Amino acid sequence: MNDNLVEVRDLKKWFPVQTSFIETLMTRRLDYVRAVDGVSFDIKRGEVFGLAGESGSGKTTTGRLILRLIEPTQGHIIFNGQDIVALNSKQMRELRRQMQIIFQDPYASLNPRMKIGDGIGHALEIHGIARGEDKRERVITIMEKVGLTPAATLYEKYPHQLSGGQRQRAVIARALILTPELIVADEPIAMADVSVRALLLELMIRLKEEFGLTYLFITHDLATAKYICDRIAIMYLGRIVEMGPLKEVYGHAGHPYTQALLAAVPVPDPHFRRTAALPRGEIPNPVNPPSGCRFHPRCPVAIEICSQEEPELVQIADSHYAACHLLTR
Ligand code: SF4
Repeated sequence: MNDNLVEVRDLKKWFPVQTSFIETLMTRRLDYVRAVDGVSFDIKRGEVFGLAGESGSGKTTTGRLILRLIEPTQGHIIFNGQDIVALNSKQMRELRRQMQIIFQDPYASLNPRMKIGDGIGHALEIHGIARGEDKRERVITIMEKVGLTPAATLYEKYPHQLSGGQRQRAVIARALILTPELIVADEPIAMADVSVRALLLELMIRLKEEFGLTYLFITHDLATAKYICDRIAIMYLGRIVEMGPLKEVYGHAGHPYTQALLAAVPVPDPHFRRTAALPRGEIPNPVNPPSGCRFHPRCPVAIEICSQEEPELVQIADSHYAACHLLTR
């Protein structure tokens, strides 16, 4: 069996920019937001693969493409050896049992009119796996596994009657109910109270071991990624700029953007003050990305070639890749 559960190759998602009919007629041009612009990576079975970057980097769009919640403009997504881009909607529905998502906002992703237990078990009915008492038993079991107890009582509650941490556990339970192989976790703890974030991460790690899961963990927070990820890819403006084993990337970051993100991570020590800030300026407009290296307008160490040629993602150490001209001179 192939070590890789997921293989992503040259994946692109360009969203057309909505303009008026007159404007299109005048300019005779259709513009696109290049949300994801040619990314390639593998996710190994049983690992936690992180996708990190600032808002607008394309990480969330990449996660949704992998589940085909949105259609790619170009590229391949190989899941368990099968290119899922070629599958029709019926085949994709079947496959979704094996790939689930945990959304950032548990309140928005739970049906407010459905009891928590029914919401968690809904997919069992949709896929014709279990109904009635059988469904209830399976849901109670999974609720207990994620710490939603007393399960029989919480089964009958509605989302607004639960705490933020309990709602996030319900969303995790719903993702697990079909015993998937892959879970795309999109900022899964970002909206949880600071006091329960570590508990939720510990829960996700424990469930991964117990259920033999593989995670694509999407986050803007490198401190959170450090806690859970085995490998990580840093995205900037639709491209991967650095990728490798977490310890290697955090210990020997090669790309100035990664270095800046890491330097801005808060340190839990009252005697230590961070002086670094995130790179100056904001992520440029993805409709017209900068020429050459997309990071060059914000890069403190840019050189002449940076605005002219886009650097390739090259190997800089064992299984460690980065895209920066300074690394190949
Ligand atoms: Fe900075 Fe140039 Fe490296 Fe881009 S290629 S990160 S602009 S030094």
